Amino acid sequence: MSITCKCKYETTADVTVIGGGTAGVFAAISAARTGAKTVLIEKNSILGGTMTVANVNFPGLFFAWGKQIIDGPCWEAIQRTADLGGAVIPEFTYKPEKHWHEQIKLNRFIFTTVLFQMCEESGVEIRCNTMLSDAFEHEDYVQLVLTEKTGLFSIKTKVAIDATGDANLIHLLGLNLLKSEILQPATLQNHISGYNDNYDINEIKNKLTNADLPEHIGFIQLISFLNTHSISAHCPCYDADTSEGKTQLEKNARTDILKIYKFFRTINGLENLEIDFDAQETGIRETNRIIGETTVTAEDYIKGKYYEDSVCYAFYPIDLHVMSGIEKTYHQDGIVSKVPYSALIPKGTKRILCAGRCISSDTNANSALRVEATCMAMGQAVGCAGALTAKNETDVRNIRYNDLCNALKNIGAIIPEE
Ligand SMILES: Cc1cc2nc3c(=O)[nH]c(=O)nc-3n(C[C@H](O)[C@H](O)[C@H](O)COP(=O)(O)OP(=O)(O)OC[C@H]3O[C@@H](n4cnc5c(N)ncnc54)[C@H](O)[C@@H]3O)c2cc1C
Repeated sequence: MSITCKCKYETTADVTVIGGGTAGVFAAISAARTGAKTVLIEKNSILGGTMTVANVNFPGLFFAWGKQIIDGPCWEAIQRTADLGGAVIPEFTYKPEKHWHEQIKLNRFIFTTVLFQMCEESGVEIRCNTMLSDAFEHEDYVQLVLTEKTGLFSIKTKVAIDATGDANLIHLLGLNLLKSEILQPATLQNHISGYNDNYDINEIKNKLTNADLPEHIGFIQLISFLNTHSISAHCPCYDADTSEGKTQLEKNARTDILKIYKFFRTINGLENLEIDFDAQETGIRETNRIIGETTVTAEDYIKGKYYEDSVCYAFYPIDLHVMSGIEKTYHQDGIVSKVPYSALIPKGTKRILCAGRCISSDTNANSALRVEATCMAMGQAVGCAGALTAKNETDVRNIRYNDLCNALKNIGAIIPEE
């Protein structure tokens, strides 16, 4: 018996987005606002993905060199959050000392509520607590099998968008994916309190040799954790694209932090140190990348190459995190990167699109393209493209670039100029 036979019911959609995170929410809103009957599938109970459940609630970057480069539903969400007191929009008209000064700190409660509201107002059918279980691509539709709390169901959709971060849909379709040999580490966001500056720094140094601490943690890291009030201990995450690997990651990240916490509490002045906040999920920087029709290279990214099918801007330095630090490459003054539509189309498919950190790109380009404003803008692009594909009953490659640009302009997005 095939798995689809076990489904309790089947529903239909023009566009189905798998993953209600950074890219996926805006893919769904954009598809719905472009006229598509849209379903949004999310495994968690709330929307926002890494921005909300992993507490990476500081998206970058919507502006470059004093000019707005990303607009549309994602910017509307930021503004609505700010209007409710959940964000302060920084001054963008001058070049900041550090690029991350232009990131916008969001209140997670307000932001995720705004996301729910915007999806609902736009006509998106939201299905949280639902996970993708299987997928089959046919000539003119995609069959998705999903697991909800009460069993299996299926969706027959004209277009499916993979916004799972890990490219789980592409994996289920049996297509090849790329994974770097060494992945950027994952981080469990947290906050520590219960101490002031009067702790014994020499005691930390003296006790280090015999301490039961994670391998990569030394004196410099420990002092930095105390200064920033966060045990920002990186964790390897090679298999975090699977349920088993992600379970292991969550256990390891917490075990590492617990060791550091226990060590701190043996130090004079840190006896009352406490972890007063920890994110629901460990934040994952990198797992799989799709093999798209175009692959963005670091060289093309940093020099701001214009593509014939550019669909959004992207602005963030190359930002490769390794266990011991960060390797950065900055844009030259005035340069802004672009994202081609074809880097969001997986090779060997007709009715599948991707958005988010799984974009077809090399390791270094990916370390920059993965940031949140860029993921949101990619989501908007594939949402509009999915809606046009469904309307025209065609292959995602056959929609006209001009039509895509017009659809993007209609939802308020900015199209890159040559
Ligand atoms: C520690 C850390 C620090 C970072 N710092 C910054 C920063 O300073 N600025 C910045 O802009 N970016 C930063 N980033 C990068 C950025 O947060 C992510 O790259 C980005 O949010 C990824 O967006 P996404 O849409 O691809 O994935 P996500 O936002 O993770 O969304 C994926 C969604 O899909 C859902 N999902 C996954 N699999 C399935 C499935 N099989 N079925 C159903 N649903 C599924 C998930 O629950 C999730 O909601 C940081 C990332 C990390 C981890």
